[in-house]
Amino acid sequence: MTEPPGRERYGRVPFSGGYTTHSRPRRLVLPIALAVHGGAWNLPDDEVDAHVTGVAAALTLGWDRLRAGASALDVVEEVVRALESDPTFNAGRGSHLNAEGNLQMDASIMEGGKLRAGAVAAISGVRHPVSVARRVLEDGRHVLLVGEGALRFARASGAELCRPTALLVGRELERFRAIRRGRRSLVDQEFRAMDTVGAVALDRRGRTAAATSSGGTQDKAPGRVGDSPIPGAGGYADDRLGAASCTGWGEGILRVVLAKSAVDALAERPAEAAARKAMASLRRVEGQGGVILVDRAGRVGASFNTPRMARGLATQEAGLAVGVERGRLKRA
Ligand code: ASP
Repeated sequence: MTEPPGRERYGRVPFSGGYTTHSRPRRLVLPIALAVHGGAWNLPDDEVDAHVTGVAAALTLGWDRLRAGASALDVVEEVVRALESDPTFNAGRGSHLNAEGNLQMDASIMEGGKLRAGAVAAISGVRHPVSVARRVLEDGRHVLLVGEGALRFARASGAELCRPTALLVGRELERFRAIRRGRRSLVDQEFRAMDTVGAVALDRRGRTAAATSSGGTQDKAPGRVGDSPIPGAGGYADDRLGAASCTGWGEGILRVVLAKSAVDALAERPAEAAARKAMASLRRVEGQGGVILVDRAGRVGASFNTPRMARGLATQEAGLAVGVERGRLKRA
């Protein structure tokens, strides 16, 4: 495998045959890093604990796997699967209903070596959209499959299927009914918790990956697709720079290709500053949301312009931390 440019600065693993019995091989430990999000926006006070607990559990799971040597691609898929299983979040189980009362989910996954990507949009009847996206990536013929075609691919590739209603939770049914009763203002004021989930990782071999999964926006039009399944918008990974995953108002994020903008910003600054720089681009379209990033040096960053964003960050230097408020995170 050719090293991506710039990786040399961490040195190369010495060829063991090159050492005499008297010289001790230098152990080279490359940095690992992981960032996870559980959505941005108006996270209500009574949902904060569940978000922090869910993000902390997913972060810990992913960190343990990364430390054990798992690939960035496997880790981001496993982390997002865990969040899709947690009904707290708007992804997999717990997804928002669209305007007709149906679940239509979006997900993407990307690895930064060969820039392979897989994605599904407007899919229902599968338990883990991110794993169907992973199968699209591995299959390699296409990048994005939608609707009925995506479901057929999921079936043919042996993905875990379920009745669409198996992923519906009481909270979402209540919200749907309130909207139908004409309480539209609630959608805008209270229901705008955008609990889309995502993960970005840097593994021991310098590989990066990003995964994002979402039920989309509350009360969306049937067929509406957000940023989450679009490589470059909802997620992006490039081993030469790093990886990003986004959450927020998809219509804005799509137009500024937020994830790619964030990764490109890593060319000149570390993760935290690159996240802030990318978020500034969202202003132009009056967009709202947030982004998480890892860079090649093992640093993590997060930035958001909504009142809260559920997130967890893990580095070798700082350990594991989670939170929803602006400012310092708490140790996980
Ligand atoms: N970005 C997602 C979408 O627009 C929503 C979210 O982040 O919660 O579909």
